[in-house]
Amino acid sequence: METTNTKTYTKPEKFVYYFAAGEAEGNAGMKNTLGGKGANLAEMTAIGLPVPPGFTISTDICTAYYAEGSKLPDWVKPEVLKALSRVETKIGKKFGDTTNPLLVSVRSGARASMPGMMDTILNLGLNDQTVEGLAKSSNNPRFAWDSYRRFIQMYSDVVMGMNSSLLEVTLEDLKAEKGIHLDTDLSTDDLKKLVKKFKDMVQQMTGQSFPSDPMEQLWGAINAVFKSWNTARAITYRELHDIPAAWGTAVNVQSMVFGNLGDDSATGVAFTRDPSTGAKKFYGEFLVNAQGEDVVAGIRTPQPISLLSEIMPEPYKDLETIYKKLETYFKDMQDIEFTIEKNKLWMLQTRNGKRTAKAALQIACDMIDEKLITEEEAILRLDPSSLDQLLHPTLDPKAAKTILAKGLPASPGGVCGQIVFTPEDAVEWKEQGKKVILVRIETSPEDIAGMVAAQGILTSRGGMTSHAAVVARGMGKCCVAGCSEVEVDYTNEQMRAKGYNLKKGDVITLDGSTGEIYLGEVKTIEPKLDGAFDRLMKMADGVRRLKVRTNADTPKDAQTARNFGAEGIGLCRTEHMFFGADRIDAVREMIIAETKSERERALEKLLPMQRDDFYQLFKIMEGFPVTIRLLDPPLHEFVPHTDEEIQHFAQRVKMDANRVKAKIQALHEFNPMLGHRGCRLAVTFPEIYQMQSRAIAEAAAKLTSEGMKLVPEIMIPLIATAKELEMLRAQTVAVVETVMKETKTKFDYQVGTMIELPRAAVTAHEIAKHADFFSFGTNDLTQTTLGLSRDDSGRFLGSYVSQGIFAKDPFVSIDQVGVGTLVKTGVDLGRQAKGQLKVGVCGEHGGDPDSIEFFENVNLDYVSCSPFRVPIARLAAAKAHLKRKKK
Ligand code: ADP
Ligand code: MG
Ligand code: MG
Repeated sequence: METTNTKTYTKPEKFVYYFAAGEAEGNAGMKNTLGGKGANLAEMTAIGLPVPPGFTISTDICTAYYAEGSKLPDWVKPEVLKALSRVETKIGKKFGDTTNPLLVSVRSGARASMPGMMDTILNLGLNDQTVEGLAKSSNNPRFAWDSYRRFIQMYSDVVMGMNSSLLEVTLEDLKAEKGIHLDTDLSTDDLKKLVKKFKDMVQQMTGQSFPSDPMEQLWGAINAVFKSWNTARAITYRELHDIPAAWGTAVNVQSMVFGNLGDDSATGVAFTRDPSTGAKKFYGEFLVNAQGEDVVAGIRTPQPISLLSEIMPEPYKDLETIYKKLETYFKDMQDIEFTIEKNKLWMLQTRNGKRTAKAALQIACDMIDEKLITEEEAILRLDPSSLDQLLHPTLDPKAAKTILAKGLPASPGGVCGQIVFTPEDAVEWKEQGKKVILVRIETSPEDIAGMVAAQGILTSRGGMTSHAAVVARGMGKCCVAGCSEVEVDYTNEQMRAKGYNLKKGDVITLDGSTGEIYLGEVKTIEPKLDGAFDRLMKMADGVRRLKVRTNADTPKDAQTARNFGAEGIGLCRTEHMFFGADRIDAVREMIIAETKSERERALEKLLPMQRDDFYQLFKIMEGFPVTIRLLDPPLHEFVPHTDEEIQHFAQRVKMDANRVKAKIQALHEFNPMLGHRGCRLAVTFPEIYQMQSRAIAEAAAKLTSEGMKLVPEIMIPLIATAKELEMLRAQTVAVVETVMKETKTKFDYQVGTMIELPRAAVTAHEIAKHADFFSFGTNDLTQTTLGLSRDDSGRFLGSYVSQGIFAKDPFVSIDQVGVGTLVKTGVDLGRQAKGQLKVGVCGEHGGDPDSIEFFENVNLDYVSCSPFRVPIARLAAAKAHLKRKKK
């Protein structure tokens, strides 16, 4: 958990920013101070769009609130009151007035958009007197009482901490009692009764009476928004999206406009382009006679925005003009909220819309063609990590399948898993290594952790802009929403569809691109990448300086990586080649050999196999550089462990089982990570590296004689001292030269080393004398620099990240200050000794966008990452280079 912010603060000069037609004090550039919502409300006001007047209390006050021990400093109040009275004057209504009351919404808004994370309160300012005033001034008592009951529901939940579902149940009971289905069918008297009942319930449950003083309501709400910054769900979302706790949220207080005034009123949300596919098409939903969250919460199924042009043509025309204007103005796809009050359109929010990776690429290409943005802007805007979504399998259209139901295709992808009905189960099952699909009637912000844990999300209610849909798209997670053919039964943890009754744990498959749901597991196929992907990748290739290689040990991985655009292999781990069923016994014979000649005999069996491995890899890489790392892990990783395995092995190779066992026991190490591995193996048993060097050289010779031009790179791992490398290099060179003589071929080759121990990094100038290249093994370098075992740190590393000791898991994103300094030192010292030393990185970090930016800035020549991350690295490298050029 995060600790309360107790740092000191200075009272800001200005912290309340008013916005109303002709008088916007803020602008879109002030997101740090006003939050995204506040900044854009100010900007929309400034460019002449219809925005209800209001004001924003800055994020500085959130900091002050926590510094004061979760309480507003006294000096905040007078400024808020001043701004409130400006709003009153502007629209000619008074807050708390009994004849023509001003009502406001109190909305949170952080720098980065956190949809659905913080709580918004609408219709604030209502009490038993003002509601009568509203009824009279609107000439619509039903509307006034509907607003009042909504207000009590929201306020009691958000501010008073009452379980809102209790009130919701009461509402549902009343509807059932009256035999009606829609909230809008409740009469004025029903609503009056509900209000009374709600207030009684609040009194009962919380021991406090519902506040009737509008001023008290306002302060309660403002405090609650600041407080909501540190709710569990907000914290989860922040951790997920790397949003610092120190940013804080702003509070927006805005005069209400009403979409629940009757059939000439409505509320809606829309995207200026399709956020799922990127198609250039206005996309959204609305509800007639409704307010705010009704659309998102899935209370009634909303109607597609295209229908609005028929039902309310005038405001629709305005909306069309405005959305186009907003997109051109912000030069990006916008996610907007609007309300129509008696045929008049009001804008309540705009922000850059969340989108799937597919949509992001399509929109970027289209906007380049529309000359709205440049190629460089397009690259800078894309999130490299999101490409991951596109590179993963989709459902095989040819696979046999039983369709269960069809919902809305809310977020693409093809996934299958066991169904669970609570976010808690999703998290728990995921921890047990199961794949789950989270099935909910609708999701709410409390479900976030479960959504993260699930492969995909299925909801039976809610539209394309429901919470589930928006959040899933943001996470790049498959989601089918609003699947009304599915009946979800929380009590018995079952879902019913098409006569099937599925229980918790049963397997289903979701297709987020079509909205279809299938029984059981459906086969998936590799994705097909479309034109937009290729086009942007080519643009990125034209921009980047860093080369992108892949870590691949098998021909299959190498081929995948080539298809994704890898420009060579940066790390081939030869130990993986030792595990094959056909060769593991030979490897074991080599390990338990007592004499040099026994060992050589075993190695002779391995030589042709290894030669063939390398031959195939070189061939696939068609002359691109291939770095082969000689054997690294400790030998005991290869030997059999149980008595039974030992017996079988001894029989197969005709050896004495006791001797085998004794040898295996002798190999035991207390700390294998720091034990007899890497080049240390070769110092004691030179034959192993000699065999591997020979296999590499013979494969290269064969390809050379077949006419391919290639330059194999032989890499020696875990070097700590220049002496080790000097010695082992000489042995390798001798072998390769011998092979060239034997085969009468000549080819260039390089012998280099991994830099993965701190000592190697700080003595890189000495090591470089014996190396043709360096490759930073940042996995081991992280382990050895932090003294932190990757295999054992899982248990506590999470706490380090959540408590802010590490900003991110250092095995995922390089610790720039610590490990990064060693990398920089290694590069600089190495190149001091050898000007054009080629330097790359082959740890996990080679595929992490933030780390890639760092590697760009310390002048590495290439990064190497797993095949599926190659496109991500290509884009990240381009972005990093553009950012660097800008500086
Ligand atoms: P979120 O960040 O969850 O989208 P918002 O603050 O945008 O929360 O508000 C929630 C809902 O209330 C939205 O549908 C919004 O349009 C609506 N809303 C907010 N302020 C007003 C207002 N002043 N008048 C009418 N509707 C409002
Ligand atoms: Mg909110
Ligand atoms: Mg909103």
